[in-house]
Amino acid sequence: MIPLEQARAVVLDACRPLDPVSVPLTEALGCVTAAALRALEDVPPFENSAVDGYAVRAADVARVPTELAVSGTIAAGAPPSIPVEAGHAVRIMTGAPLPPGAEGVVMVEDTEPLDDGRRVRVTRSVGAGDAVRRVGDDVHVGMLLFPSGTEVRPGVLGVLASVGHLSIPVFPRARVGALSTGDELVEDGGPLAPGQIRESNRTMLLGALAQAGCVPVDLGLVRDDEGAVEHALRRAAETCDAIVTSGGVSMGDFDVVKAVLQRLADMSWMQIAIKPAKPFAFGLLGAGDGRAVPVFGLPGNPVSSLVSFELLARPALRQMMGHTGEAVDRTKVLAIADDGLPRRPDGKVHWTRVNGHFGGDGRLHVRSTGAQGSHQLASTAAANGLARVPDGDGIAPGADVLVWLLV
Ligand code: AMP
Ligand code: MG
Repeated sequence: MIPLEQARAVVLDACRPLDPVSVPLTEALGCVTAAALRALEDVPPFENSAVDGYAVRAADVARVPTELAVSGTIAAGAPPSIPVEAGHAVRIMTGAPLPPGAEGVVMVEDTEPLDDGRRVRVTRSVGAGDAVRRVGDDVHVGMLLFPSGTEVRPGVLGVLASVGHLSIPVFPRARVGALSTGDELVEDGGPLAPGQIRESNRTMLLGALAQAGCVPVDLGLVRDDEGAVEHALRRAAETCDAIVTSGGVSMGDFDVVKAVLQRLADMSWMQIAIKPAKPFAFGLLGAGDGRAVPVFGLPGNPVSSLVSFELLARPALRQMMGHTGEAVDRTKVLAIADDGLPRRPDGKVHWTRVNGHFGGDGRLHVRSTGAQGSHQLASTAAANGLARVPDGDGIAPGADVLVWLLV
């Protein structure tokens, strides 16, 4: 058995970032930028009012209360065509350009309209620059907004839109095919014949791929037949950036995925010192155009399939999409194991499915979701975290445990 870190090093070394593409901002959410992005313009592009109120000369409102003549109204989007003369004010809306002569803006709450709005009574004085947004006080033209490698979150989209970027260079979403194998599997919804079970892994993995930011590609359910598996894998390599298979990679007589990949691809077969998900295969499958397509051979047991996806495939796929460092993994939190997470020593790190909630103490508190067998998907579905329980006697009640958040 090899430590998890060694297995992760194998996949992370082999899965390099995909070639960058340019995408419209509307499609960039969740992607990672592939070049440094600078401000194309100043924001704000012109001096404007931060409030609804009256643009004034500071000297005219130095002593309050005072009354001024209102010479017009400037709406957001209108040109600043009405200058502020001495003894006058101009009604101005938030975001409207500051008119010539104006030094500050009195907010409407500090005023009272008189004579049907022809005059205004000002009850609070403002100095030069009050409630005025200066040119470039958010962003200066030319400044570095985001270095290459930034994850595009909604705020990033907003800033890029504010300076006029319409499309940006990003690492593309990986198109990842998911394939399940097993003669026992059915997916047509009909009654189960003796020995049959319903396919679940592929449906689950397609969801996990979508949640990881990939484009999931359904490669279907393939019989335990070497020709069929080979055909499916070769076809997938032509259209996908990576392939995830479930089942057929352990020591059984009908583990045909193993037999086929052994022939087709440059594979590493691993027994990883973790529970669940000990068997794992990874390799590169050559495509016609010379690309080497990563293949993740996940175990068939549904819980193992999901856990090895989380610990091994997901980080590698995220790296292909430009994520680096901690961002390839789930967010990790040191949580309190309220009831403890007992186990026996067996040379493996256990990844226990847990449910967590933030307590009044601001800490995450976790409890096991129950049955932890590698076929017991129901308790896994109730989990919002994977707790890392090192080899030994487990985590004592109330002690800390590292949790990967599955959210
Ligand atoms: P295998 O790795 O192919 O030996 O499968 C291990 C266990 O997982 C067996 O009990 C299979 O029936 C089950 N299994 C394999 N693939 C799937 C799948 N796609 N959906 C549900 N169960 C599966
Ligand atoms: Mg099988």
